[in-house]
Amino acid sequence: MLVLRDLVKVYPGPVTALRGVRLEVQSGMFGLLGPNGAGKSTLMKIVAGLLEPTSGQVELDGADVLADPRRVQRRLGYLPQDFGFYPHLSGRDMLIHLLRLKGVKAKGGLKRLAGELLERVALGSAASRKVKEYSGGMRQRLGIAQAIAGDPRLIVVDEPTAGLDPEERLRFYHLLAELAQDRIVLLSTHIVEDVSVLCPAFAVIRQGELVARTTPSRARAAIQGTIHEGEVGAEDLPALLERHTVTRSTLFEGRHRVRVFADDGRPPAGFSAAQESLEDAYMILMKRGADFLSRGADAPPEDSRPPSAEANEGASLAANTEAEA
Ligand code: ADP
Ligand code: MG
Repeated sequence: MLVLRDLVKVYPGPVTALRGVRLEVQSGMFGLLGPNGAGKSTLMKIVAGLLEPTSGQVELDGADVLADPRRVQRRLGYLPQDFGFYPHLSGRDMLIHLLRLKGVKAKGGLKRLAGELLERVALGSAASRKVKEYSGGMRQRLGIAQAIAGDPRLIVVDEPTAGLDPEERLRFYHLLAELAQDRIVLLSTHIVEDVSVLCPAFAVIRQGELVARTTPSRARAAIQGTIHEGEVGAEDLPALLERHTVTRSTLFEGRHRVRVFADDGRPPAGFSAAQESLEDAYMILMKRGADFLSRGADAPPEDSRPPSAEANEGASLAANTEAEA
C-alpha cells in the first residue's frame, strides 16, 4: 500500500503546489486526475523519491520513501512527463543506457535484460531502430520498459497518454492495465477517458488539493438523471452558460450542442435527458466542487468532522461510501 500523509510542497516564489495531500492507494491502477498546474507532476516526483516535499510523508508498504529514497527506488518505476531520449541511439541502446543510469543489475547482462523488456512492451522488432524514428507511442513504451526493470512494486506514470494518437493510446492502455494486475500503478492525467478506461479508483486534484477520491461508477451514479442535452444558437449560449452548469459544449453543424447539469430538475427548454458520463462528473466537480458526490451517500453528521477535514470533504465522503460497496 502507498500512503501519502499531509504532503505540502512550496516552490521558491513562493508557489504552493501541494496543500496537504492525504491519500491511500492499494494494489492496481489508481488515477490522479486534474487540470494543468494542479500539482500532479509535483506529487508524482515526490512519490518517486526525486523531489523533497516541504513537509509530509510517503510510505510504500510500510517503508519511508523520503527517509531512504535509494532503497525504495529499487522497488519503484517512474515514467516522467518529459522523458529525455538520445534520438540517435537505437531503442535497445537507449534502454541499456537508462538501465545503467538506474543502477539495474542483470544476471545475464543488461543487453539480454533490455531484449526481454523490449519484448514485454512489444518493441522487440523495433529494438535496432533509432529512437528518433519511433512514434510517440513507441517512445512511451520504451519509457515503460525502463520503468518495469526490476519488477517494481509501484509504477508512477505521469501523463503518459498525452500526445498519443487513438490507436497508440489504446495499445498503451492495454500495457498499463496488464502492469497493474499485480502492483500499484499511479497514473496522472488530465484526460478523463484515461480514468474511465483504466482506473477502478481515482482522485481529483485541483490547485494542490485532493477534492475527491471516488470510483468512476460512483461518480456517475452521483449525477444520475441530472444530465440533459440540447442544441442552442450562438446567441443563446452566453445566457445558458450563466444560468446552468455546462459540462460540455461542442460545435455541430454551426450550432452548439450542449450538456448541462440540471440537479434542480429544471433543464433548459427543449433539452432532453442524456446518459451521464465521467466527464460530466469531472466538469461538475471542477465548476461546483465535490458536494454533489455525497448525493445518496450516508454522509457523516456535520459536527462529527473536524474543521480541517473541510477541504477533503469529497474525499472522505467518497472513502466512506467506498467501504460500503
Ligand atoms: P501539473 O503536473 O498538474 O500540471 P505541476 O506539479 O507541474 O502541475 O505544477 C503545480 C504548480 O507548481 C504550478 O503552479 C507550477 O507552475 C508550479 N511549479 C512546478 N514546478 C515548479 C518549480 N520548479 N518552481 C516553481 N514552481 C513550480
Ligand atoms: Mg505535469
